[in-house]
Amino acid sequence: MSTEQQHAIPSYLNADHLGPWGTYLQQIDRVAPYLDAHLQRWIETLKRPKRALIVDVPIHLDNGTVKHFEGYRVQHNTSRGPGKGGLRYHQDVTLSEVMALAAWMSIKNAAVNVPYGGAKGGVRVDPRQLSLSELERMTRRYTSEINVIIGPNSDIPAPDVNTNEQVMAWMMDTYSMNLGHSATGVVTGKPISLGGSLGRREATGRGVYVIACEAARQINVEIEGARIAVQGFGNVGGTAARLFAENGAKVVTVQDHTGTIMSLGGLDTVALTKHVAETGGVAGFPGAEKIPDADFWAIETEFLIPAALEGQINEHNASKIRTRIVVEGANGPTTPEADDLLREHNILVIPDVIANAGGVTVSYFEWVQDFSSFFWTEEEINQRLDRVMREAFAGIWLVAQEKNVSVRTAAFIVACTRILTARDVRGLYP
Ligand code: GLU
Repeated sequence: MSTEQQHAIPSYLNADHLGPWGTYLQQIDRVAPYLDAHLQRWIETLKRPKRALIVDVPIHLDNGTVKHFEGYRVQHNTSRGPGKGGLRYHQDVTLSEVMALAAWMSIKNAAVNVPYGGAKGGVRVDPRQLSLSELERMTRRYTSEINVIIGPNSDIPAPDVNTNEQVMAWMMDTYSMNLGHSATGVVTGKPISLGGSLGRREATGRGVYVIACEAARQINVEIEGARIAVQGFGNVGGTAARLFAENGAKVVTVQDHTGTIMSLGGLDTVALTKHVAETGGVAGFPGAEKIPDADFWAIETEFLIPAALEGQINEHNASKIRTRIVVEGANGPTTPEADDLLREHNILVIPDVIANAGGVTVSYFEWVQDFSSFFWTEEEINQRLDRVMREAFAGIWLVAQEKNVSVRTAAFIVACTRILTARDVRGLYP
């Protein structure tokens, strides 16, 4: 490619661009040769977001000064239905990160066949620095700013890193007040008192566990007695860890932003959940050994669950990893270079777009329940969740075997085929 051509391409569309968007573009390049010719001609659709909104979010701080935050909402693709995806509050949020997260939502929603496109939102803020009322004002102002593109039929936010049911309640209220009537279906992951769904809070972690069991069955790994490493002990990592422990596995090491702890006999995940809720992190958990963060990756386990942020498994640590199965609770935790190294070492990677799809699957159930104002039992929800996840996994596993590709490439083949078939049959307009 000539320098002139290179300059003509905006930097965010360039696969050499580092970070999550670069990772995503490489994943698309890997899947493209496996798509049917009539779909390949639409591949560019996946390499650029449909719509990206950057908003200024000014709020009054408690001390009377005004502070501005930068927020984003990206709709990557809406060929199969409304945009759908979480909202993240983090000090490192950037537009290109939100673009990647939105794109992975398009792939994820298609991989489990829920009738959504992909979207994601983010605000660059460290929410731990804000009081509760500052957080509320920021959420409400952000919602008002993105009001023009969200809605129950157009784009439906949900919780993600550092956002929760309360944040969703403020979003739903702000959107509804601007509209003039209550619209519960504008967000999912709401409190139960507001049209939220039973089982939604645990759904992502539960899905991680269900998919881990399916993968384990394929390569003859037992859950009973298995050793588990978990990175991130929030809603996803914490729930998955508890389910593993309840079913006879041993969570031997956990890492989060406060440090890394280890107990080869197995950590008490219920007590650890309480400790994290009280102290903000795993550091200082009584009875566990504190170890250097870099040692986390080399601990021998049967399952490694990255459930924190992107790019955590990369060319620097992938060769040290000693596990049988990586189950991606986080979005984008493994770089393409690390994917190759893990495959060389015969470590099975179950990608984010299937492994953590439990959250958005129950979000879909919540949205359906809101529209019909008829609510299901928790048992019904968990049963349906299990079925959706297992069926999606089985289909993807089959493609991986048939085409001799990684489970990630197989999931992308299934998802991109669904998205681009919709794109193709819809045609261009105007
Ligand atoms: N934030 C979650 C994810 O990354 C859930 C999104 C949703 O429920 O819309 O999948």
